[in-house]
Amino acid sequence: MSVVTPIDKPLLERALSVAHQPIYLPACAAAGVKVLLRRDDQLPGGNKFYKLYFNLKAARAAGKDTLVSFGGAHSNHLHALALACQTEGFKARALVRGYAAAEQTATLKDLQAAGVTLEFVGHGEYRRLCQTQQVTLQRNEYLIPEGGANALAEQGASYIGRAIAQQLGAGVRHVIMAAGTGSTLAGVASGLPSSTEALGICVLKAPPGSSLYAAGKGQRGGWRMLWGFCGKGYARPLYPAMLAFWQEFENNNKIPLEPIYTLKTLWAINRLAALGYWPRGTQLVAVHSGGLQGRRGFAQQPNTINTAQALAEPIYGARHSKRTDQHYA
Ligand SMILES: *Cc1c(COP(=O)(O)O)cnc(C)c1O
Repeated sequence: MSVVTPIDKPLLERALSVAHQPIYLPACAAAGVKVLLRRDDQLPGGNKFYKLYFNLKAARAAGKDTLVSFGGAHSNHLHALALACQTEGFKARALVRGYAAAEQTATLKDLQAAGVTLEFVGHGEYRRLCQTQQVTLQRNEYLIPEGGANALAEQGASYIGRAIAQQLGAGVRHVIMAAGTGSTLAGVASGLPSSTEALGICVLKAPPGSSLYAAGKGQRGGWRMLWGFCGKGYARPLYPAMLAFWQEFENNNKIPLEPIYTLKTLWAINRLAALGYWPRGTQLVAVHSGGLQGRRGFAQQPNTINTAQALAEPIYGARHSKRTDQHYA
C-alpha cells in the first residue's frame, strides 16, 4: 500500500509490546530453520484487535455509538468486537449466521454477557447481506464487514509488520500467518520492509488464486498466499496427523493453538520444512493470530489421540468441498 498515514503511536506501542518466542517444530529443527512465534494471541482478540482498531476510531469520529457486524456462532471476529466494545464504550449488534446458531455456543454466551444484541439470520440471507452490505442501519450504527475485512483493518494489521521490522530487523526472511479473508496478510505485508516476504496460509478450501477479500486477489508485491494446507477444509474435522501435530506442538512448546487458523499455519511451516522448501539457516516469524476462544466450539481436542499411530497414517489430499463455512472467521 502506498497510502501514507501518520503513525498511530498507541497502536505501535501495543504492537511493539508483543513478544517473539522461539518454538520447536520437528522438521524445521531438522532442516536448520529457526522459527519465532509472534504472540499476538496475548492481545485481546488477536489479529482482530488490529483489524478493529481503526474501525472503532472511524466509528467514533463519525459520531456512531453502535457497531454492527456479521459472524458465525463461534466467530473470533464477533468475540473480539464484543471485547473492543466493552473497553471502548460502544454498543454492538451482531448478525449471526443460521437459526441453528440460536442454540447457545460458548462464544454467543460471551457476546450476550458483554451486552451484544444478537440477531439470527438464515444462511441465504446472511450470504446476501455479507456480499451486498445492504444492512438496514440506524443513524447511530456503523457497519463492519464479515471478518472485519476492510481497508481500515489492513491499516491496523500493518502495525504487526511495522513492529516485526522494528523488533527483529531485516534478518527475517518470511512472516507467515493464517489467511481467511487475507486482509490481515495484505496489511502485515504493507508494514514490512521489501526484504521480508509476508506469506499467508489459506485456511479455506478454495481454488488457488481465489480470495474472499477483493484486495487479497492476485499476488501483489510483498506477499504470497499458499493453498493446500487446510486439511479437510475450513473448520472441518482434522486428519489424525494434524491432531497429533497439535498435541505434540502443545506438549513441546507449552503454547496453545486453535484448530482453524494457527494449527494449520504451523502445520504448513513444518510440512514445507520437511519438503525442503526453506533453505537451511532461514529465519521465519509465524504470527499467532489468537482465536483461542473459538477452540471451545471444536469437537476434536489434543491429548485424545495415540500420537505414534496417527503420525503413521498417510495424509490424504483434500477433496474439494462446496461448503464455505464462515462460523469461525
Ligand atoms: C480471523 C482470523 C484469521 C484470519 O484473518 P483474515 O484477515 O481474515 O485473513 C487468522 N487467525 C485467526 C485466529 C483469526 O481469528
